[in-house]
Amino acid sequence: MIKVMKFGGTSVGSERALRNLVSVVKGDEARKALVVSAMSGVTNSLIGLMKEEQGASDAFFDELLWKHTSAVRPMMGEDALGDLEAKLKVRIAGLRQAVDRYQEPSARVIMHDAISSWGERLSSLMIASLLKSDGVDSLAMTSEEAGIVAIGAPGNGTADLEATSRNFKRSVVPQIEAGKTVVITGYYGCDSEGRPLTFGRGGSDYSGSVVAYSLNASTLEIWTDVNGFMTADPRVVPAARTIREMDYGEAAELAFFGAKVLHPRTIEPARKKRILVKVKNTFDPAAEGTSIRDSKKNGDRLLKSVAVKSDLAVVKVYSSEIVYNPGLVMHLLATVSENGSAAYAISTSLSTLAFAVPSSSARSICERIRHSGEEVEKVTVKENVSLICAVGDDLINRTGASAMVFHEAAEVEANIEMISEGASDVALNFVVPSDKANDVVRRLHSKFIGA
Ligand code: ADP
Ligand code: ASP
Ligand code: MG
Repeated sequence: MIKVMKFGGTSVGSERALRNLVSVVKGDEARKALVVSAMSGVTNSLIGLMKEEQGASDAFFDELLWKHTSAVRPMMGEDALGDLEAKLKVRIAGLRQAVDRYQEPSARVIMHDAISSWGERLSSLMIASLLKSDGVDSLAMTSEEAGIVAIGAPGNGTADLEATSRNFKRSVVPQIEAGKTVVITGYYGCDSEGRPLTFGRGGSDYSGSVVAYSLNASTLEIWTDVNGFMTADPRVVPAARTIREMDYGEAAELAFFGAKVLHPRTIEPARKKRILVKVKNTFDPAAEGTSIRDSKKNGDRLLKSVAVKSDLAVVKVYSSEIVYNPGLVMHLLATVSENGSAAYAISTSLSTLAFAVPSSSARSICERIRHSGEEVEKVTVKENVSLICAVGDDLINRTGASAMVFHEAAEVEANIEMISEGASDVALNFVVPSDKANDVVRRLHSKFIGA
């Protein structure tokens, strides 16, 4: 059976992390493919670069080369390092050309995702060389070479799982069968014209799942900087604990509604083939981590984990007797998806439809609605709100669960702006002002999850 190991930005971002990565890879007998993120900070600097008027300086490219060689220098011999440096220089020259092209306004949309994903093209070379110099027969592959096919809008691609699986039979599978450990770039695939299309920030987790699907892997390991999927973001709740076992559905809800440890769509491809997903800590490999699979165990605590999706806005559309006009409701929801956004919560009354969308797209959604010519009386936007996602086993059948949760929100004086309940069997979602969101999470954690 094949195992896929995905290593995130901090897990490939320093000498210490890379030493651990090598020992994790060498310590596992399974045939495997790795999926890697850019070194931490690199994607941000590439995206930052595209916002600069004057493009990139030589110092920027020198720094990139330095970053990818200095972290591995103490672990590699001179020859192997020289070989890596030569490969990195060629790839950095490619980035230079891409950045030059980006200066032409007509090429901007096309080049944006290509440049954003350059960090993965560099880190995959670095990691394959490092493993090779330590005796692991490994091979770096870009998403282009592996054949990860993506569809959708720039910055928000979705993998075509069947097309990718077909390509992998020719590209990746024979290499693994020949005993190689293949190191594949995370974060992006290629559209029908071969152009890079990223899966959104944090997208390498999703790439890991896509690769696991396409290789019929038994296990996908997500190697990160915490001890697994936790009961809350440990930066918000220092007492948060690792959850040993989770159901696919629970993990998917929490990831979609803000638990940054997994990209929102990581679970989808893995669940389709019942692939075990493990979340593990590169900096503490012996720690058990979290296993995500079909697991319908009922614990005695009300909640299992709480996540926050921040930077949302509530758009409210007024139209008399909107409920009797299904065509209008459909049209209004279509404006959200046409805008390339997701509606994180939807709620209706007799004459209003409210939905929570990312703040960045609220204004343009309102404009679309106002100019749609439909029978809309008024559209309002409430900014600076966050959605709390509280997940518990079989929450829908626990009498009084919502009352208990909302009571605690009131205790920290958080006004509930919108509720989305009953749609999911395991999650209770509601919207509060952003400045109260962390207080609500801490309160729910201390009351229903515990220290
Ligand atoms: P990587 O670079 O490995 O992909 P990320 O920074 O994307 O790592 O995700 C890991 C981070 O996610 C953790 O450091 C933690 O701060 C944050 N996080 C948010 N919610 C959770 C949660 N429920 N469990 C674990 N970590 C979480
Ligand atoms: N490097 C990309 C990012 O920073 C993808 C990832 O790390 O998952 O968003
Ligand atoms: Mg991540």
